[in-house]
Amino acid sequence: MTNHPERKLWNEKIEALSRDELRALQLKRLKAQVRYNYERSPFYKAKFDQVGARPEDIQSFKDFAKIPLMTKDEHRQAQEESIERYGNPYALLACAPREKIVRMNATSGTTGTPTLYTLTRHDVEIVNEMHARKYWRAGIRPGDVMLQALSLSMFTGGLPLSQGIMHMGACVVPVGIEGGTKRVLQFVRLTSPVAIIATPSFGQYVIERCPELTGKPARELGLRWFFCAGEPGGGNPEVRKALADGFGAKVFDHTGGGHAFHGISCDEPPEQFSGMHFVSEDHCLLELVDPETKEPIEIEDGAMGEMVFTFLDWEGGPFMRYALGDILQVFTKPCSCGMPGIRFKIIGRADEMLIVKGVNVYPEAIRAAILKFSPRVTGHFRILLDKPGPLVQPPLNIKIEYGVGVKERDLSALELEMTQYFREEIRVTPKFQWVPPETLPREKKKTRYIEVQGKR
Ligand SMILES: [Zn+2]
Repeated sequence: MTNHPERKLWNEKIEALSRDELRALQLKRLKAQVRYNYERSPFYKAKFDQVGARPEDIQSFKDFAKIPLMTKDEHRQAQEESIERYGNPYALLACAPREKIVRMNATSGTTGTPTLYTLTRHDVEIVNEMHARKYWRAGIRPGDVMLQALSLSMFTGGLPLSQGIMHMGACVVPVGIEGGTKRVLQFVRLTSPVAIIATPSFGQYVIERCPELTGKPARELGLRWFFCAGEPGGGNPEVRKALADGFGAKVFDHTGGGHAFHGISCDEPPEQFSGMHFVSEDHCLLELVDPETKEPIEIEDGAMGEMVFTFLDWEGGPFMRYALGDILQVFTKPCSCGMPGIRFKIIGRADEMLIVKGVNVYPEAIRAAILKFSPRVTGHFRILLDKPGPLVQPPLNIKIEYGVGVKERDLSALELEMTQYFREEIRVTPKFQWVPPETLPREKKKTRYIEVQGKR
């Protein structure tokens, strides 16, 4: 594809479709996809059989929502059963004949056996296209050098990403972080990249160590873009600010590896985060469901629920109503950045959800609400439960640190303000238990926000 550098979108024909046009395209592709999956995969046929449906019964998105969800456990089981019965991992799930499958990617596999994605040449092209859409929106153009400093052995941060960058005509340096920080910095000097793709924590580490390792601050490395991937943090205003200041770069958060769900945040100041624009809707149908009841949740501005995705116009392993356990919040109002498409924020995992008086509450949402009151609070807190969730006997108890310099006599006014905010935004009335700054243990890795205190 030829693309003029001044164009704002990589693929204007698709990315700039109106909502109605896009939904019509999705429905057309969905009807074809369900027939394709039904006819080629015993796994998906069984999903239809379970509710006595046939492909021709799917005439609307609502019809489609009646097909049972697919879970990660089922995916793993089907994979194992395929290996056992047919000698390959995709016999039950993949819909393309074996000779058309050209790549297998996997999820990072942090818990349990990795789950595989099978792709045909056609699917690989879609993945390339999505990477191109993301980086093009961020302002990367042919001639720009991008340093890929993710773990290359973790499939989705590796080869598929390199190929996507080449596809859009930019130049990739797939250095990887396996060789260590020194080697990454050595390649910065050797190849003069303008952009780096890395985890936010690696970025923060480089800012710290750069003067010692290179004799100059990270700001002087010449990086103008920092693309966050591989872990949460790219949406956190404090982290974004630290990366933006440390590198003197624009900070983007993005997601999407070797499959059909891709998004990238806007070009906006680091202290702001409006979510990620969903760039792959023509190949990925997104649904939201209640994490508990699995009932559909309407996609409207501010809606939150467990994400369920279905690949569209996909040949290899076209996932259908796959519920991975991630909680998303979606925003359908036009974004102030002017870029098209709905946006989403990844709020947390379905298994971290709490239910207070029928309201679904996520630790990440609480964290975001608390951070609104920084610096009067440090941002550190714990949710105290008597017994494991999701059901919480009200009130929701939150142990929280007040900020440095805040007087105890000011706490009741602050609490009143915060309670009001929580009632409006989170729809629960918490009970705060104030503690001085630096009281709660700081965890280097992922902080566990929930503390179960029962059964002492
Ligand atoms: Zn935007």
